[in-house]
Amino acid sequence: MNIILMGLPGAGKGTQASKIIKKYPIPHISTGDMFRLAIKNGTELGKKAKSFMDAGELVPDEVTIGIVKERLAQSDAKEGFLLDGFPRTVEQAEALNGIMEELGTKIDRTIFVEVTEEELMNRLTGRRICEICGTTYHLVFNPPKQEGVCDLDGGKLYQREDDNPETVANRLEVNINQTTPMLDFYENQGVLVKVDGSQDIDEVFDDVDEILQSI
Ligand code: AMP
Repeated sequence: MNIILMGLPGAGKGTQASKIIKKYPIPHISTGDMFRLAIKNGTELGKKAKSFMDAGELVPDEVTIGIVKERLAQSDAKEGFLLDGFPRTVEQAEALNGIMEELGTKIDRTIFVEVTEEELMNRLTGRRICEICGTTYHLVFNPPKQEGVCDLDGGKLYQREDDNPETVANRLEVNINQTTPMLDFYENQGVLVKVDGSQDIDEVFDDVDEILQSI
């Protein structure tokens, strides 16, 4: 079961990834997590990735494709994997097809967790954080008991600078421009499936699970 999971920021991709690997014994391969771990451990890879990540830019393809190739060749990925955060570009998607061919396998499904831009704006701009303990709330989906005040320690809730509507709109636009060509790519390959990410978490997972069971 070789799966790619895609979704714009705020679509709930991370939540679905956790639910998938809880049910299916496949490794969750997230390039973002691999880079963060490498930085934490101060490895050569971490040194290469850090400046790009800090600037919010993509790590160059020769680095990113290299680590994915190495990771997918490991024995625990033989029976399947869940790719998250990769591919990010059509070039990476093409390289991934080459890696699959070398390994004698293929991508079974690319699952896109679809949520409208308007809903994503609501989700992302409604986030509020406690200035004391860092607990995250959401004005609509997870409100504190008392407006503007943390349930746990009474700390004042604030909005992160990059959660303001303009920055969020910009972040979404960049992501949409990146994602759309890849959705076309996988649509042409006949492996793209979309799930309605505006439903409850468990309903989204039911749809995802149905797709996984059909492989
Ligand atoms: P993420 O956790 O997926 O949001 O990734 C965090 C950061 O890691 C990104 O902003 C990029 O700098 C880097 N990164 C993760 N995946 C990729 C990828 N497929 N290609 C290039 N850079 C990536």
